[in-house]
Amino acid sequence: MTVTEESPRTPAMAAGTEQTPCLVIDVDVARSQYEEIASAFAGAGVHYAVKANPELPLLRVLAAAGCKFDVASRAEIDLCLAAGASPDDLSYGHPIKKSEDIAYAYSRGVRLFAFDSEGELDKIVTHAPGASVLCRVLASSDGARWPLSRKFGCVPEMAVDLMKVAAGRGLDPAGIAFHVGSQQLHPDRWEPSIGTVAQIFRQLRRVGIELRILNAGGGFPVSYRTPVAPISAYADAIHAALRRHFRNVGPAVMIEPGRFIAAPAGVLHAEVVLVARKSYSDEPRWVYLDVGRFGGLAETEDEAIQYELSTARDGPSGPVILAGPTCDSVDILYQHAPYDLPLDLAAGEVIQILGTGAYTATYSSVGFNGLPPLRTVIR
Ligand SMILES: *Cc1c(COP(=O)(O)O)cnc(C)c1O
Repeated sequence: MTVTEESPRTPAMAAGTEQTPCLVIDVDVARSQYEEIASAFAGAGVHYAVKANPELPLLRVLAAAGCKFDVASRAEIDLCLAAGASPDDLSYGHPIKKSEDIAYAYSRGVRLFAFDSEGELDKIVTHAPGASVLCRVLASSDGARWPLSRKFGCVPEMAVDLMKVAAGRGLDPAGIAFHVGSQQLHPDRWEPSIGTVAQIFRQLRRVGIELRILNAGGGFPVSYRTPVAPISAYADAIHAALRRHFRNVGPAVMIEPGRFIAAPAGVLHAEVVLVARKSYSDEPRWVYLDVGRFGGLAETEDEAIQYELSTARDGPSGPVILAGPTCDSVDILYQHAPYDLPLDLAAGEVIQILGTGAYTATYSSVGFNGLPPLRTVIR
């Protein structure tokens, strides 16, 4: 990297993270995000969705703070156990698992599994006998910046039938899960699913099956360029929906925040590779960075997640199109969303991409165009 003497250096550069691109994680921020959401949802089980950022030091800090975990693979189970979590604190929330992965989880002491189909239930009966199960129901992800479509969940009628099957085959029918899509901007989007879950509870109670857990999933948003409502607004809306639909006997509540805990803890340090114009008269400038869509910024697809940028320059700024370093033409971060950067920004300088602690390092490709995966540094 060529940084001339007079190039601005950011404080983090001075702290020894010279090699860009590099994701710097501040675990104290993650811990305070955990504490904030745990106190907003007092009494709920908070399971961090490990896929958002599985760095071991981060998991250690969360486990020590009392956080539980939502895991989706053997490796995530091993990481959480290595971080000091007890198997009782793990929920295997992925509804689609290989039989051997279910058996592995069971052998490590995991006893809570999600499913959304009869085929998956069969596997759990065989490989995790007697385990507790959560059936995932479809939920609308309207209003989510990163929606989840129909890949996971079944319709409520099917959930009722499958929970009867689960009870009949020796499993513990523990509850119902749903997920309203990631970076869900609307606090009221949990309410319809809570109503659905309450109905399922009532239908099963009539046949003598008492469910006890409502898993409201993740989706809790963070402020990127646009501020979002405080987490208390989401907690209030969910608590109001629980009171409305469950009346006096409320279920035990589980939540699975990923982005909310990890995103604010990360700052991605990138280098400007080139500032260019496509013609003598053209605005805007093209700014090419050494990190892009394939280097960890996958959520810039459709410009869905719009990160806040910071540079060490504070002069006048003008519009830019931001692109990544690869030879792939989809490797453009923002061309429609209006982004401005300082007019005197030059190659070799560092840009900080804020709020990048979630869904970045794990999304980065291995060796595309010879570029290494995004490196993470823990503070
Ligand atoms: C990814 C995931 C989450 C976390 O979602 P966020 O939007 O990051 O909070 C929670 N639960 C499940 C089952 C997931 O797959």
